[in-house]
Amino acid sequence: MKKKLICLLCVLVVIFLTASSTVIFSHLTPPANWPPSYQATVEYGETDLIFDDTGPLWAYISFPVVGDANDEIIAAWAQDTYQNARDKVAALRKNDREAHGVIGIHFDSYLVGDRYAGILEEGTFINSGSEYPINIVRTFNIDTETGMLLKSSDILDYAQLESILFFIRERIIADDPDAANSLGEMNASWLEHIVVSHDGVAVIMERGAFLPANFDTLKITIPYESLGSAFLLRESPPEGALPEPPMSLIIPNFPPLRGDIDPTKPMVALTFDDGPSRQTLRILDVLEKHGGRVTFCVIGSWVNAKQNTIRRAFGMGCEIVGHSWNHRNLSKLTEEEIRKQISDTNAAIELITGVAPRWFRPPYGAVNDRVRSVSEDLGCAIIKWSIDPNDWKVRDANKVHDMIMANVHDRAIILSHDLYGSTAAAMERVIPELIAKGYQLVTVSELMYYSGTTLVAGRVYTSGK
Ligand code: ZN
Repeated sequence: MKKKLICLLCVLVVIFLTASSTVIFSHLTPPANWPPSYQATVEYGETDLIFDDTGPLWAYISFPVVGDANDEIIAAWAQDTYQNARDKVAALRKNDREAHGVIGIHFDSYLVGDRYAGILEEGTFINSGSEYPINIVRTFNIDTETGMLLKSSDILDYAQLESILFFIRERIIADDPDAANSLGEMNASWLEHIVVSHDGVAVIMERGAFLPANFDTLKITIPYESLGSAFLLRESPPEGALPEPPMSLIIPNFPPLRGDIDPTKPMVALTFDDGPSRQTLRILDVLEKHGGRVTFCVIGSWVNAKQNTIRRAFGMGCEIVGHSWNHRNLSKLTEEEIRKQISDTNAAIELITGVAPRWFRPPYGAVNDRVRSVSEDLGCAIIKWSIDPNDWKVRDANKVHDMIMANVHDRAIILSHDLYGSTAAAMERVIPELIAKGYQLVTVSELMYYSGTTLVAGRVYTSGK
């Protein structure tokens, strides 16, 4: 924690230098806070330094000496980086005798699993010819047993590239959707600078190369648990982490389109099975009046006849997922039958909403190994519930209302059925009362997103917690 604070101070110093560079450099005096201080983590290698405090280029480039053939490569990189900065300032000085610059680069090194060394060189080059500091990032990963310098594809399994990139993209969007848009299409160049560290594989995407100059450099650490088999350096698994869940089964979870939810406040997901029906419209009317969104788990064979209802619900921000094709108990079906029940329903929904459901609600909540394995194949999670008011059985609006209000909790998933007038009548009271109690009514996908719950294909979930 303390180290992080010191790093943050360094960043602030750099920002300060940038903001005031024109003043600081006007008479070739050293910049303020020169040389820059940095509390480095050095677990591998001795520290060497390129240092120049005479101007017009002030340079502080630290790099490790590791005692094998890689030293030549690392030192050559440091020298090149220094020389490029010198050339740049020299070129500027042809037109401007006051031109100047400062380059500050530090490194951290980690020894992971007693065998793999990760080295992260990071810094900025500020010069009077550029409005923004130029970010400099370079990583080296070394197998200390063989002395091999590892490429990104030696560390990560590129056969699982899409899953890895999805994970990175999801993290970026969670932090800064604008940065995610600026990165454009996912591609392997995102993994140009990766470094093994104790928490996982860190991915560094620097502004200038990946992002416009007005963004911050992104650093995303993919935990070893999330990487699973996508992490190839398995001989000495770092921290004894198990490959669970495998990256390929993680269902991408993008931020909800409507950003009107406060994740620090309570939220619940009302879900309605067995529709759509006339009662669905009544529930939508209540939502229209009071606000909030719910999730409909629809019967696939009814979807086509109820397109308008589904369109209206989806247009209001509600989520539409499947509840099997014709309400069969999936645990009693063959693999092929289960697959058809789920995928036919998903296809029918996607045809109308344009969104492929990422999870489904099994009829009767019935799940066995076959159901789990098919949904894993289909890339779908299984969502059950944490509150069941038995509305299909009691058919009494007051009882359904009382049962929900007595049991409601933050991040609950509440089961009901938009097939019964009594349920719709209960919702006419439940929905405004939940809102009055401070609950935000969200879809299940929103609930999972804001609860930081990663959906894994084939797994069963009962609430946002
Ligand atoms: Zn049902």
